[in-house]
Amino acid sequence: MVNPFQNALTQLKRACLAGSLSGDILARMETPEREIRVAIPVKMDDGSLKIFEGYRVQHSGVRGPYKGGIRFHPQTDIDEVKALALWMTLKTAVAGIPMGGGKGGVTVDPKKLSKGELEKLSRGWVRALWRDLGPKIDVPAPDMNTTPEIMTWMSDEFEKITGDKTKATFTGKPVDGRLPAGRQGSEGRDKATGLGGFMVFNALCGKLGIPDGASVAIQGMGNVGGHAAEIFTEHGYKVVAMSDSKGAVFNNEGLDPGKVEEYKNAHGSLAGFPGAKKINNAELLLLDVDVLIPAAIENQITEENAGNIRAKIILELANGPTTPEADDILFAKKIPVVPDILANAGGVIVSSFEWEQNLKGEHWTEKEVNEKLKKILERESLVIWARSQSLKTDLRRAAFVTALERIESAIKK
Ligand code: NAD
Repeated sequence: MVNPFQNALTQLKRACLAGSLSGDILARMETPEREIRVAIPVKMDDGSLKIFEGYRVQHSGVRGPYKGGIRFHPQTDIDEVKALALWMTLKTAVAGIPMGGGKGGVTVDPKKLSKGELEKLSRGWVRALWRDLGPKIDVPAPDMNTTPEIMTWMSDEFEKITGDKTKATFTGKPVDGRLPAGRQGSEGRDKATGLGGFMVFNALCGKLGIPDGASVAIQGMGNVGGHAAEIFTEHGYKVVAMSDSKGAVFNNEGLDPGKVEEYKNAHGSLAGFPGAKKINNAELLLLDVDVLIPAAIENQITEENAGNIRAKIILELANGPTTPEADDILFAKKIPVVPDILANAGGVIVSSFEWEQNLKGEHWTEKEVNEKLKKILERESLVIWARSQSLKTDLRRAAFVTALERIESAIKK
């Protein structure tokens, strides 16, 4: 397995060369400001005590409080969390929001826990880390396998321990009335990463030569991939393939994402989905489509399969789905990759809106949220496109250079 932190460091070094950035900024970015590992004891339903390993990496706070999700996954380890935290520092800088970068996680397969055990683990993560969190210190959010309900448990635990009632320490909270107005989640947060991805795509598709109604294949149908499938379909694009961790379905005439989701919820997998061919995740990545959207996990497009990619562009909604070696192959094949730190920034942007609303005790409508999101993503997509043209480089290096310059200027202030 390719180490995602090593990949992130390679991307960083390449960007520093492309943008003639100083060795100082490279040194600052290579080393997270803090890495915290904690033991989280959980009394399991069978009476045994299990100790889980938890993490928080506070990568850079120079532009504002650390910001980034918490991942519950069996393969999560400190290197993955460090990579994700570094990408968050760059992502918040690309978005121009007043926040830094962090990430958290627990090595766990949450599917093997009962709901009660999951709640104890989530509250335990906060009990282990609350001293290092807070609205002006570090503001976590959901990531893979962490949900609005988990954010409710976590923010409740934080309030019990600290007495802080702003609810501004955790974003991605629900908007279903469980929390009081002004202290709940933000309207539009659940869809923000998928919608933001579409807004970036829409801002660039003319420049990338992608026609209306183009075909789209999406790997992963969780919070990000599922919403992206619906949003692309609503805008007249043809989603021809979707997948979960167990497999994929393909129909060249287009799928109805709502029906695929319904089937998966009812049957637990996509196996047997009617009217579509069953393929695997590796095959999905090699389909002859206009737009390929990885929306699951890291290291999916590597030097092994990049040469066989047939998509016209790749829109990275997952974090770190493409390795640096694959980037080179794709660049040589003239397949543009819209990088994660731009393409999936919608989630953290709306998270920052949630934080701002909670701090001010305000409630913004979904329309207001989406308008603010669109303004930022359209502007920054064009900035990064122009940078890639002036530097004669790929969009990833251009996005990294833009972010690193913003971080450097914050350090100098
Ligand atoms: P999720 O847990 O809701 O969904 C993950 C999806 O990926 C599921 O459909 C799962 O079945 C699938 N998957 C898991 N392992 C897979 C594998 N080996 N092969 C193929 N598919 C697999 O997670 P999510 O929140 O949708 O996050 C997906 C990606 O987007 C992650 O890389 C995450 O870091 C990134 N991201 C998420 C957000 C957000 O707002 N949730 C924001 C920015 C980036």
